[in-house]
Amino acid sequence: MKTIIEPFRIKSVEPIKMSTRSAREFYLQAAHYNPFLIYAKDVIIDLLTDSGTGAMSSEQWAGIMRGDESYAGSVSFQRFESTIKDIMGFEYVIPTHQGRAAERILFSILCKDGDVIPNNTHFDTTRANIEFRGAEARDIVIDEGMNPSTDHPFKGNMNIQKLKDTVNSVGRDRIPLIMLTITNNSGGGQPVSMENIREVSNFARSVEIPFYLDACRFAENAYFIKIREEGYKDKTVRAIVEEMFSYADGCTMSAKKDGIANIGGFLCSNNPDLAQREKDLLILTEGFPTYGGLAGRDLEAIAIGLVEVMDEDYLKYRITSTGYLGENLLKLGIPIVQPPGGHAIYIDAKMMLPHIPPNQYPGWALACEMYLEGGIRSVEIGSVMFGKHDFEQKKDVVHAPMELVRLAIPRRTYTQSQIDYVIESMENLIKRKDKIHGMKITYQPKFLRHFSSHFEFLP
Ligand SMILES: *Cc1c(COP(=O)(O)O)cnc(C)c1O
Repeated sequence: MKTIIEPFRIKSVEPIKMSTRSAREFYLQAAHYNPFLIYAKDVIIDLLTDSGTGAMSSEQWAGIMRGDESYAGSVSFQRFESTIKDIMGFEYVIPTHQGRAAERILFSILCKDGDVIPNNTHFDTTRANIEFRGAEARDIVIDEGMNPSTDHPFKGNMNIQKLKDTVNSVGRDRIPLIMLTITNNSGGGQPVSMENIREVSNFARSVEIPFYLDACRFAENAYFIKIREEGYKDKTVRAIVEEMFSYADGCTMSAKKDGIANIGGFLCSNNPDLAQREKDLLILTEGFPTYGGLAGRDLEAIAIGLVEVMDEDYLKYRITSTGYLGENLLKLGIPIVQPPGGHAIYIDAKMMLPHIPPNQYPGWALACEMYLEGGIRSVEIGSVMFGKHDFEQKKDVVHAPMELVRLAIPRRTYTQSQIDYVIESMENLIKRKDKIHGMKITYQPKFLRHFSSHFEFLP
């Protein structure tokens, strides 16, 4: 069959409130032209993030009812722990309320001032937690990973030569761990090959530096290996996952991604002393080590989600449906980061709206226009998010290298006709793209300005 269908049927529905363009003009103005400030009920298709927004299965909901809420020794924790040990093969499993809590605990213990942590590309919470410890988060993705239009099957790969150079110049004593983010979220959701994981691991072992995976989208990464890397097409995703983790000494994980849960995360390692120190810190801020800031029912939902996410029918649908959106946008002449990633499509707003300079935020303008056109919510990953503002000079002094708009696809949530609706909205929008205006910021806070700034369209 050529037609690939959603491999599930809908058991419970959540109505979407339809709206008119004039209603959306009102909602957007009331939100000060900041999509983060729009009420979710006024959004038709919400592609803001794939984090915690997926649909849980009937099995997961059944698990929620079974959740054991005992403070200590919960049966749900045993299920959670044994599932993770079984899939990922680590000795010690520490539950946390989200991925960033796992990061905070790991880096608080391992990093000191002046350390350097290499990664393909650090996710923003990872970077922030490392910098908060006074260390440097260094990105060393391959060159292809930094160019939106070059095609490469594994654009998330780490540049091994740069890794070696970093260790030589910084010294291994100042590198407490090496990380690889699978898939590379900040680099466009691009996968990392098994060969690259193996090479990074071999090198890390040769210089005795622990090697960690930021494993948020481990199943999507494994599926890309299966379909793109030589020698893997006949292996099961489960076997590929096991091989990927066999090269690592530990991992951080946000269960809101490939755990297909609404909340949760965990931290794994094979080192008993480190695990003990992590648990001590966990008790201080997250909770007792058999729940770590989560309810017993969340532990159940995650344990079930981690197995469901490796289902190959699901992954085939997941990767194909993301690609479907990307390919249809390309057909409309909309430039995107190529090839399509696993969880999201990234529109290159700099190329699509060349008449809007970075200091007028082309990505932000496009995100606002997509909301006005079809009630579609997306997120700018460009000069609003990464630009630096000088409050004395009253202007931006640094712009982002790329002006992207990310359309993140929640797991098992939207049907193909809803994605077709997004494509048709973009078709209407592209016809009037030359008339899209740039924007200015009318209020901005000192930190993380994209979440709360106010904007206006320029005349
Ligand atoms: C989401 C994410 C995190 C952080 O996880 P949270 O659960 O949001 O705290 C870390 N790394 C990557 C690659 C992510 O996508």
